[in-house]
Amino acid sequence: MPDLTSFIIVGGGMAGAIAAQTLREEGFDGRITLLGQEPNAPYERPPLSKDYLQGKADRDSIFVHPEQWYAENAVELSLGGAVTSLDPALRTVTTAAGTQLHYDKLLLATGSEPRRLDMPGADLDGVYYLRNVEDSERIKIKFGGARRVVIIGAGWIGLETAAAARTAGLDVTLLVSGDMPLQHVLGPEVAPVFAELHRNHGVDLRYRTKAAELAGNHGAVTAALLSDGTRIETDMIIVGIGAAPRTELAAAAGLKIDNGLLVDEHLRTSDPDIFAAGDIAHAYNPRLGRHIRVEHWANARRQGAVAAKAMLGQDAADVRPSYFYTDQYDLSMEYTGDIGPAGYDRVIFRRHADSREVIVFWLYEQRVQAGMNINIWDVAEDIERLIQSPRQINADDLADPAIPLASFL
Ligand SMILES: Cc1cc2nc3c(=O)[nH]c(=O)nc-3n(C[C@H](O)[C@H](O)[C@H](O)COP(=O)(O)OP(=O)(O)OC[C@H]3O[C@@H](n4cnc5c(N)ncnc54)[C@H](O)[C@@H]3O)c2cc1C
Repeated sequence: MPDLTSFIIVGGGMAGAIAAQTLREEGFDGRITLLGQEPNAPYERPPLSKDYLQGKADRDSIFVHPEQWYAENAVELSLGGAVTSLDPALRTVTTAAGTQLHYDKLLLATGSEPRRLDMPGADLDGVYYLRNVEDSERIKIKFGGARRVVIIGAGWIGLETAAAARTAGLDVTLLVSGDMPLQHVLGPEVAPVFAELHRNHGVDLRYRTKAAELAGNHGAVTAALLSDGTRIETDMIIVGIGAAPRTELAAAAGLKIDNGLLVDEHLRTSDPDIFAAGDIAHAYNPRLGRHIRVEHWANARRQGAVAAKAMLGQDAADVRPSYFYTDQYDLSMEYTGDIGPAGYDRVIFRRHADSREVIVFWLYEQRVQAGMNINIWDVAEDIERLIQSPRQINADDLADPAIPLASFL
């Protein structure tokens, strides 16, 4: 019997799982092996800081595919062991257990990992990071017995865990390193929406403040000492200071690294048989005319599909605007778009009769760069089409909710 063509996927997250699915959907009948470091089959991370952390979603609901899907689709899952080396010349990968596997095409989808604190006390018990389902479970259990939490970092993870902690009844202190939470993502015009949301829910926001040291007793954290000299007693710390792409395997193999694994629009690395997708991929986007790296769920899904098609020799690329969402307390929002290096020159608030319902648009030279719909649904597609439209838009008209979005297309 002739050898089957063998495709290997390293990384059992969203991008890896969707790539395997797409390969089969596109008719690939060779061997697919998905190698994952975690003991679990691929699952979705967004619930880990939202419904799953709050005990509103059960474990079964977070998986990308049901357990039997892998056998039904002849996808060989090898879990619980990292791939430790990659040899592009021999076209092999080697696992921690010492198994060497040959590939014809390889997809690297190793995701990212939380940046760690580097300060006295960082290793104390009671200091939590949130990346994996086990992290979420540990935090959920600790919420049950704790009274106070200090959250270091006011990005998406910091804000979502703050909302979950308040919902669980804890006193929450949130350390914001800059002037506002999310200011670098949303700008000074829109970031206050999130600051106010958390203030209204009783979170103690400390601006322009960082942790300098963590103090403990019998190995467990008891206080955070802040850069302004304040001491905050606490039962636990959650760290949300960003994530870094897991490029160590690719770097050691000599692939080109630059803010992630550098890939072209077809997600091909500097080696023609190796592709990358998801959080690690710093991908060329032909619509924007530059490389971008996106640490969001929709990007991992889309790039998983694009990489699979490109591995099959198809002319695939993802040129859609970036998309992400968040849920905090009673606020749900979707954000679509990419603000370029030129930035934006106008921010429009399109407020609906119900004051909780708003669409925010960021414009540059009368063209929509990004839009965020808060507590309004079924508009993300229109926002995406507006971003892709070459038409110049009258900003004052766009702010008027009586004028339908479709009329700007
Ligand atoms: C708590 C949390 C909440 C989030 N919420 C949102 C949200 O609301 N909206 C949104 O858009 N995005 C959200 N994200 C981001 C989103 O989940 C990620 O962008 C997405 O998971 C990226 O998918 P990925 O497949 O690239 O990587 P990952 O999901 O990180 O998967 C990579 C996998 O590869 C494995 N791996 C790494 N190295 C190796 C190796 N050498 N060998 C074998 N396996 C390896 C890792 O263990 C991991 O299982 C959230 C992320 C987190 C952590």
